[in-house]
This record gives sequence, structure tokens and C-alpha cells, in this order.
Amino acid sequence: MSVAEYEGYAGIDIGGQSIKVGTIRNGELVTRDIETPPDYAVARELMLSAVTELVGGKPKGLGIGTPGPIDWRTGFLQWTPNIPWKNVSYPELGEALGCSVYVDNDANVAGLAEAVLGAGKDYRIVAGFTLGTGIGYFVVMDGLIYHGKLDVEGGHQVLNPEGPLCGCGARGCLEAYASATAIEARTGKEPEDIDDPEFWAEIAGYLAWGITNVTTLVCPEVFVLAGGMIKRGETLFAPLREKLAQMLKIVPPPPVKPAELGHRAGVYGAIVLAKRGHRVE
Ligand SMILES: [Zn+2]
Repeated sequence: MSVAEYEGYAGIDIGGQSIKVGTIRNGELVTRDIETPPDYAVARELMLSAVTELVGGKPKGLGIGTPGPIDWRTGFLQWTPNIPWKNVSYPELGEALGCSVYVDNDANVAGLAEAVLGAGKDYRIVAGFTLGTGIGYFVVMDGLIYHGKLDVEGGHQVLNPEGPLCGCGARGCLEAYASATAIEARTGKEPEDIDDPEFWAEIAGYLAWGITNVTTLVCPEVFVLAGGMIKRGETLFAPLREKLAQMLKIVPPPPVKPAELGHRAGVYGAIVLAKRGHRVE
């Protein structure tokens, strides 16, 4: 993976437990981890000094991936479920550093990294799901995140309007069938404790259904799956590819690939966002 073009750009990946700050120096990713302070004023100082120290001065640009709900146009975070910060203006960090700044939600930013540097790097139109407590969804076209008017939410496509209640308030969303939360609610077990191949074939069926719908609407060149569940490997991917080929006939199914960047996808994506910026939508 060549990241030379991102030399001197800075990225910040904000999470509920930790904040990862990174840059590309001498062709390599260098990062610093900060335990997420409950007070934003403290976090702000730590992030600014980490960026300045890692870059060795002013960055060429700053990208930020944050838990949402976030308005990517303004970079303003009113609140977020897992961090007690309120009314945060991320663009102000760019003003303090004297550089441009781009902000997006963490799922989109990790997806951008996979699309540009990871599993989707050989393709122009990349879509994917992140399988976690919810199901994140992203679409990246020509190295830029696609949002639509607000943001795409492929994890909340409805598979059955009379299905189980989803956290979003609707019934039968993909997320209400195949997220870790849904799996725990249905089986009483965490996904990592379930070994039964028949169970994973059932989950693969829901995901294949979701990928079929995405493909009819977006027709991606490749589909990327990220998140802890992909550690199942072929127990999940083999039935998924088989069911996708059974379900989708109008166009050839896209190749389905596991994400490659793991927990570093967020900081890589923030650095890519810092250089490439947003589509005009
Ligand atoms: Zn939903």
C-alpha cells in the first residue's frame, strides 16, 4: 500500500474509548492513542498537541471521523450516544491548526479507507457493510464518500415490514436481523460464541439479501464487509457468495471481500479525507 501522497496530512479517529491521531511520515502511518476524555476542552488540547507533535508543525489538512449523528457539511456535533460531549465544532480544530478540515461519521471514514487503500483499492465504485452492534453502510465513488441529501443508511433497508423492531423505530431492517445486537437478542449469545455453521449460513442469507438490494440500486464494482464478524471467514463468506448468486440474476454479483485495514481503518480514512475532501452534493 502506497500512502506517500498523504505525507503531512493529519487524521483523527474519535471513539468512545479512545481517540487515534495519525499522520503519514516517511511513507509510514504513525499514530498516537489518547484515552477519550469526558470533557471536550481537555480532548481538544490533547488532539491539537498530538497533531502538532506528530506532523512536526502545521498539517497540510485535517480529517476527522466521529461517532454521529454528524452533519458532514458543517462538522458540528450536537451530541452522540457514547461520549458526553455537547455542541462540538470540529472545524474549529482546523482554525486552531491553520489548515483545512473535513469531518464525517466514523463508518463512512473507515469505509473510505477500505475503498482507497484496502479491500476496494482496485475499484472505482465501492460499497460495504460494517457489522457491529449496528450495521454501518458506506458508498465510495472515485475516492469520495457518497452521502445523498443526508446520508445513506443501507443497514436500515427493510427486508420485512412485519419483522423484528429495529433501534431506528422501523420493523424488519437488515440491522434488526444481522447486527450483533439482533443476534444477541435472538440467541442470548454473542456472535463470537456461536460456532454453528447453519446459524452463520442464515446470517449470510440476510447479508446476501442486503447486498442484492444494494447492487440493484448502486451496482458497486466490489462489496466490502468489515467488523468483528468477518473473522468467521469462509463460514460466513462461502454461504454468502452462494446465496448472492442464487438471489441476484439481473447483473453479475459483485465480488464480496473482507476489509483489510482492521482497527486502523478509521485513522487511515481520516487522513485520506483530509487530502481528498468531500464530494459536492
Ligand atoms: Zn432500522
